[in-house]
Amino acid sequence: MTTPPKIDRRAALIALGGAGVVATGLAVSRFAIARGETNVVVIGGGPGGATVAGELKRLAPKLNVTLIEKDKRYTSCFFSNHYIAGERSFDSITHTFSGLKKRGVNVRRGTVRSIDAKNKKVQFGKTLEANYDLLVVAPGISLVYDSIEGYSKDATKVMPHAWQGGVQSKILRARLEKMPDGGTVVLAPPKMPYRCPPGPYERACLIAHYLKTKKPKSKLIILDAKFSFSKQPVFEEAFQRYYKDIIELHLSNDIDDFGVSRVDVRTGEIYTPAGLIVKADVANIIPRQTAGEIALKSGLAEGDWCPIKPDNFRSSKSEDIYVLGDASIAKAMPKSAFSAHSQAKTVVADILDRLDVKDAGDVRLQNTCWSMLAPDDSAIIGATYQPGELNGSEQLLAEGSYVSKPGETAEVRRQNYKDSIAWYETLTNDVYAKQAS
Ligand SMILES: Cc1cc2nc3c(=O)[nH]c(=O)nc-3n(C[C@H](O)[C@H](O)[C@H](O)COP(=O)(O)OP(=O)(O)OC[C@H]3O[C@@H](n4cnc5c(N)ncnc54)[C@H](O)[C@@H]3O)c2cc1C
Repeated sequence: MTTPPKIDRRAALIALGGAGVVATGLAVSRFAIARGETNVVVIGGGPGGATVAGELKRLAPKLNVTLIEKDKRYTSCFFSNHYIAGERSFDSITHTFSGLKKRGVNVRRGTVRSIDAKNKKVQFGKTLEANYDLLVVAPGISLVYDSIEGYSKDATKVMPHAWQGGVQSKILRARLEKMPDGGTVVLAPPKMPYRCPPGPYERACLIAHYLKTKKPKSKLIILDAKFSFSKQPVFEEAFQRYYKDIIELHLSNDIDDFGVSRVDVRTGEIYTPAGLIVKADVANIIPRQTAGEIALKSGLAEGDWCPIKPDNFRSSKSEDIYVLGDASIAKAMPKSAFSAHSQAKTVVADILDRLDVKDAGDVRLQNTCWSMLAPDDSAIIGATYQPGELNGSEQLLAEGSYVSKPGETAEVRRQNYKDSIAWYETLTNDVYAKQAS
């Protein structure tokens, strides 16, 4: 029951030129760029793809940069927990592409259906095509609905995952608002790897905060497929300090598996292999994840995610294709918006260098994940990252890691909260080139 989206392996290999690896050799020059003949196509307008598109156009205005995005606007998953708990508006986490258009990025709306690496073109929408010299693939994640019996894309209308931004977050918030006081909310985080490792526990805190202030007789039950989780000591401290009578945490262990094996959308029942059956008034089921479907079906993945060269995020499968953000295997670097944005700067530096436009210098890969535990109380985890060798393979390794600890002062936590709010504004202004709009 854990099958990823169905992929035609043969079609994927053909898409990548037969052998799965294409080294086409980049025949573009500074003159071709000046004549406006060099095309970079970017798939996906999240923090990974949109940053690449905007930065390339800012630093090399003569480059033709096309961003293909399936949605008209981008609603972020990051800070969606704040929205779900009523702490932020939907508009404040929704961004348009007008700044990028103003900067000169050719923003096209459509779903990319195939990548033809041999002929260097992508097909999108019903009949549209775009040729590229270099392709950047940043499609985020796909959800493996059938990893849970009874779960499906249709079921997400009743039991939302809210792990992709937009309508899913709206459904979860609406269901919480509709639930009577005294109701039961179930939150089911998956095993690693998945987008935003601390995200489910921030969500638990913020939903519990909503229940505590609006529906205090209600409960939040966490059914976790994992044995342990990111920033666990600080989250557990927050569960005790703020939400003692609301949150009930079930972590899996060697004997008991509290991952969700089956759901019944009609009755609201949630089943675990450990034999627990919970009847949920609101169920937030977060299933297993893979790289965005276009990356899988184009043969860019190995297993569920896409291998990359750690010093520049070129795909290990094709020299002229980059994969970044959640879809990539960045090893120690977690799947986060901060990571995707930082990786995008690395990709831009590599593209400008190989096109002989400019030496963008060294770009430092870094990440910080903030999690809001309660009003004015946020925890952090982060590191910087360098390519290095581990167990005989070249990969990204963390250095200078830091993480919040239990018992920190209210002042430290308040500052974290303020930093997180400032980070969201700075990041989204940069990603969506808002200063250009
Ligand atoms: C609840 C939650 C909280 C989070 N909090 C944080 C946080 O505090 N800090 C943080 O740094 N990160 C956080 N994250 C993680 C963050 O949202 C992701 O890591 C980030 O969005 C990844 O960026 P991306 O560009 O790789 O993918 P995405 O943001 O998913 O963007 C991919 C884009 O590609 C488009 N697309 C996909 N396929 C196609 C196609 N075939 N054709 C055209 N377009 C396509 C999609 O529509 C989408 O717009 C959180 C995530 C969740 C779920």
